[in-house]
Amino acid sequence: MTVRVRFAPSPTGYLHIGGARTAMYNYLFAKAMGGKYILRIEDTDTERSERQYETAQIEDLKWLNLPHDEGPDAGGDYGPYRQSERLHIYKAWTDKLLTQRKAYHCFCTEEELAAKKEIATAAKLSPHYDGTCRNLVESDVTARLAAGASSVVRFRTPMKAYEFTDHVRGKVVFPEDMVGDFVIMRANHIPVYNFAVVVDDASMKISHVIRAEEHLPNTLRQLMLYEAYGETPPEFAHVSLLIGEDRQKLSKRHGATSVRLYKEQNYLPSAMLNYLLLLGWSHPDETDIFDIHKLGTMFNIDRFTKSAAIYDIVKLNHINGEHLRLLPTDLLIAEVEKVLPAGHPFTKMDHDWKVRCVTLSKEKMNFFTDIIPLLTLYFDCEVSIEADYVEARGWETTPQIQAYLKGEVEKAKASGKKFVTEAEYNEWSNHVKGELKIKGKQLFMGIRAALTLQAHGSDLKFIIPLTPIEVLEKRLKIS
Ligand code: GLU
Repeated sequence: MTVRVRFAPSPTGYLHIGGARTAMYNYLFAKAMGGKYILRIEDTDTERSERQYETAQIEDLKWLNLPHDEGPDAGGDYGPYRQSERLHIYKAWTDKLLTQRKAYHCFCTEEELAAKKEIATAAKLSPHYDGTCRNLVESDVTARLAAGASSVVRFRTPMKAYEFTDHVRGKVVFPEDMVGDFVIMRANHIPVYNFAVVVDDASMKISHVIRAEEHLPNTLRQLMLYEAYGETPPEFAHVSLLIGEDRQKLSKRHGATSVRLYKEQNYLPSAMLNYLLLLGWSHPDETDIFDIHKLGTMFNIDRFTKSAAIYDIVKLNHINGEHLRLLPTDLLIAEVEKVLPAGHPFTKMDHDWKVRCVTLSKEKMNFFTDIIPLLTLYFDCEVSIEADYVEARGWETTPQIQAYLKGEVEKAKASGKKFVTEAEYNEWSNHVKGELKIKGKQLFMGIRAALTLQAHGSDLKFIIPLTPIEVLEKRLKIS
């Protein structure tokens, strides 16, 4: 079987992270199976759909690096890939059902239907359509249509149970009488979702439908339609919902839910995908950090987890840090420079310095911008107000350390050096220990306080060789 899968977003807003996850699952499955991944735009909700959102979603999918093989922008043999351009196809498929009497025109007005529903609810009767137009005589229907009466097309629902095996949920049974005769085509000739999706999936030869669990109830109506057309339904995998810490469906209340906001905040697409993949799927090697594009055939749809996945921004941030640390150093430098204010002293340093600086700094970074406060260690001459720093400044040993270092720094400067080496720094530290007899906390925190004007940071033997001598000099004068 040729695997053909699709991601079918509605262009009613920016790409949601749940949508991005669905898109990725489909993309990876197509890659693993040597199949095709299709993008279909479900824009039949004419009130809410906007072309600008379609463009934005395609941009976001591109940013994530999930390219589709067929779609409105990419073309393909099964187009058009926008539902609004497929109305003639839906009409033809509706006519097929009407001819076979598997569907019928219904002339009941909204008001009539609402009134009937009210009576049925009050009498605790079935809320389904009561069948008023189910068996109208042909001539009556033709006459009403010819007179221009408004009608919808309803599907003649078979009275029987349906079942299918879902790749995530296992066997799913829908007992009979769950739905009544449902509308497939509105009076304005716009198809309803459950109908359009079957027409599209069948005519686009979709083999597997991987989508969010919230669509599980829709599968019943879809199975009925496949049966009516004599089409084999695709295989289904309904992936678990994304929920917030409060176990409610993920929404804006829980923080940023659109991919675009993450893009604007400089998240790495590779980290977003890695994290989203883990929300609902587990790696066979039980590893957490990987490049989803390298999974190949390791990705399969039988490793989806059944339980809802809690969206955890802290974990995402951690994974972002892991991916950031894996970037080639020159790329990391370039990305860091993009987020630094123009003219930042970092940009003026030589390449070797930048390499050593980002290699050291990245251990403390989850995001490119995290380097900004770290760089104060090398350029800033502001005195820290942290209690630990104030305490270290108060020790009687600290002025001794400072006086000694001042002399050393002046010597180094006089010899024309711009930086000291790690070995030179170690000599300073050994001198304070051996000759000044200052040890332990007084030694390390004293030197740190004198040379960095801060109480904490990476190992001094790495920081000091990266700090320009003129900065050390200024600090020793200030403090
Ligand atoms: N347009 C639907 C949505 O955005 C797609 C449903 C499906 O995949 O069948 O949720």
